Amino acid sequence: MASIAFIGLGNMGGPMAANLVKAGHNVIAFDLVEASRNQAKADGAEIADSATAAVKGADVVITMLPAGKHVVSVWTDVIPSMTKGALIIDCSTIDVESAKQAHALAAKHGVLSVDAPVSGGTGGAKGATLTFMCGGEAKAFVHCGGAGAGQAAKICNNMILGGSMIAVSEAFALAEKLGLSHQALFDVASTSSGQCWSLTTYCPVPGPVPTSPANNDYKPGFASALMVKDLTLAQDAAKAAGAATPLGKHAQEIYKAFDAAGHGGVDFSGIIQHVRGLAGK
Ligand code: NAD
Repeated sequence: MASIAFIGLGNMGGPMAANLVKAGHNVIAFDLVEASRNQAKADGAEIADSATAAVKGADVVITMLPAGKHVVSVWTDVIPSMTKGALIIDCSTIDVESAKQAHALAAKHGVLSVDAPVSGGTGGAKGATLTFMCGGEAKAFVHCGGAGAGQAAKICNNMILGGSMIAVSEAFALAEKLGLSHQALFDVASTSSGQCWSLTTYCPVPGPVPTSPANNDYKPGFASALMVKDLTLAQDAAKAAGAATPLGKHAQEIYKAFDAAGHGGVDFSGIIQHVRGLAGK
């Protein structure tokens, strides 16, 4: 079994590290937040004093951090302490440029690297059912293409996710005004052409999908501030590549307004509250 250093033990990284322990790997973990370190310890990981200490002697290093600046900063710190020929994998959702910068740091020090953002939410992280979108050198592991391709796939996916969550929320808000029950709309749309992940796995109203954050007061899950980040990455990429993404742009504006109103820490399915609040405006 491999010796794995895991850095970033938040809503996603915590359960991912716990699953690696369960799979029999030797996991040495680090996070800046003490509560997250304590949880990882309770889950069976060894806790290091710093990210740099965690990576010493590891076969594989995994980072699961908020944004590109955190990834570049942590990779800059840890890569010189890694064993030559070891593998570093970033699973965060970040901008393509930072991903490329991180790959270059690894290549300079003779370390293999993969950008592998994930899809599936905290449920997928806990249940070990995440989808990984991988980019990097062929010898490291390639799925989506060359360096940064995993991030490109991820931001396209999350642009669909942001838009579809707003669409599903609007449908429930309209159904409420029309006197249609949440369950009735769910039963119809989940077996019709409106079917999508935002409806069937992450339903923004409590009831139809008992595991969705709507049943837990919209506790994240996936915070709205992170959705703003991803939709902004998608807009930046669209601008740079000359692609037209009018719905993606509108989704970004809607999530930005929700975030600006102080709800950045609310799960992104909580956008239904914002949608309801727009009525009559
Ligand atoms: P989170 O904020 O819960 O966790 C991030 C963790 O990184 C925190 O515990 C923080 O303390 C830690 N951290 C930050 N800087 C650090 C540093 N320098 N050294 C060590 N630890 C540091 O976020 P999350 O929801 O776990 O998301 C992590 C990444 O995964 C993000 O890029 C997000 O966009 C992506 N993502 C999240 C979900 C989701 O459903 N939550 C789904 C797919 C992808």
